[in-house]
Amino acid sequence: MNDNSKPVLRFAPSPTGMLHIGGARTALFNWLYARHTGGRFVLRIEDTDRIRSTPQAVAAILNGLTWLGLDWDEEPIYQFARADRHREVAEKLLAEGKAYRCYATPEELTSMREEQRKNGKPVRYDGRWRDRDPADAPLGVPYAVRLKARQGGETVVHDVIQGDVTFANAQLDDMILLRSDGNPTYMLAVVVDDFDMGITHIIRGDDHLNNAARQMQIIEAMGWPAPIYGHVPLIHGPDGAKLSKRHGAQAVEEYRDMGYLPETMRNYLLRLGWSHGNDEIIPTEQAIEWFNLEAIGKSPARLDFKKLENLNAHYIREKSDAVLVDEIAAWIGRETPPKTLSDLARARLIKAMPPLKERAKTMGELAGSAAFLFDDGPRTLDDKAAKILTAEGRATLAAYLAAVAGAPWTAEALEEKAKALAEEKSIKLGAVAQPIRAGLTGRTTSPPIFAMLDVLGEAESLARLKAFTD
Ligand code: GLU
Repeated sequence: MNDNSKPVLRFAPSPTGMLHIGGARTALFNWLYARHTGGRFVLRIEDTDRIRSTPQAVAAILNGLTWLGLDWDEEPIYQFARADRHREVAEKLLAEGKAYRCYATPEELTSMREEQRKNGKPVRYDGRWRDRDPADAPLGVPYAVRLKARQGGETVVHDVIQGDVTFANAQLDDMILLRSDGNPTYMLAVVVDDFDMGITHIIRGDDHLNNAARQMQIIEAMGWPAPIYGHVPLIHGPDGAKLSKRHGAQAVEEYRDMGYLPETMRNYLLRLGWSHGNDEIIPTEQAIEWFNLEAIGKSPARLDFKKLENLNAHYIREKSDAVLVDEIAAWIGRETPPKTLSDLARARLIKAMPPLKERAKTMGELAGSAAFLFDDGPRTLDDKAAKILTAEGRATLAAYLAAVAGAPWTAEALEEKAKALAEEKSIKLGAVAQPIRAGLTGRTTSPPIFAMLDVLGEAESLARLKAFTD
């Protein structure tokens, strides 16, 4: 069972959509802290909203976390399945006089609120059933169970990020624990689950800071230990405004589909709100070693796509050639229709990877720049390549083919032949190399072209280039 000396952290998403990058960052911070301390990281799917929660969203969240490499230590807990336990706690509070039955009808509450608004008063439950004799209870009227919250004094959330945040209890009304249909509220469910799961640290978005004060009231009423809270400022767009659709991608899977690597995302999300001096490149192993709650920033971090791209280029370069070939295979496997890599293509890619990976900022760029190695046969020219293979370009190509006939098929020898031809014709080496590049790859940019002639081999190279010399 629990090793009580170790922290237990959780990620508690509501499965109503994709895994949002804000949620992914929350998961990452909790995961890193668990890994840093040797504690546990657990998942709780908060599926109590039966209308908005969907199995597809649960799958999207679990897949997103898996893709990001954030593993969890136990079977996920599903909150809705624990409703009986939540009710049990509400009953206990009732029995102890720490909660009470409220028979106010919805109509009554609506007019109470209207009255408060009209009088410029804060809108909150006025405690009308708090001290009433239960004998007054109307027969057959459904009731809600409300917490008998402390009315005077303050509730202080000791937050490792925000410092002490004080709420006057007078501002917090007697919140509902069980609705009149007998269903537990979210606020009750969270507290009971966190306690039962032995959660020691709650790191989450600062949109939950007010909830923390309310949740602490329930914790106090139950006499449970309070967890350590850390409310992380939300992520903002590059312009400093709250993150929204107009800033672009929001879902983790969109970042995957744009060609960002999981290790890039881990590093990037870490830096959105946590810092270690001026370090920008912080691989996960290092992050696990360094991560602490104290260095989480107090002000909102801004998305920075340039930084994301630079990090991705870095992690692409860092990956082994063999792994990158697998990543390319996975990438083209997600295309419609899905593509696969032949053994020949894999062998070529391994050989060509050192220069290919030097220039790619995303997996899409890498796969695109490697595509000329996937299959055999003449290339389809893009517009720029077509402009190179004019009559003049084709004549140069033909002269080059004549020059390499019988030459050893190595990058060095093939480059020598091109230099000699350029000299002979008094043109630049580029004027020879570009037609070769265009014919061989269908593009005007590629890794060093003589090395690529070598990677493709003599027969395939000649077949491709001859297609543009007639
Ligand atoms: N389910 C909540 C959400 O997705 C998080 C609750 C919590 O972390 O306490 O926003």
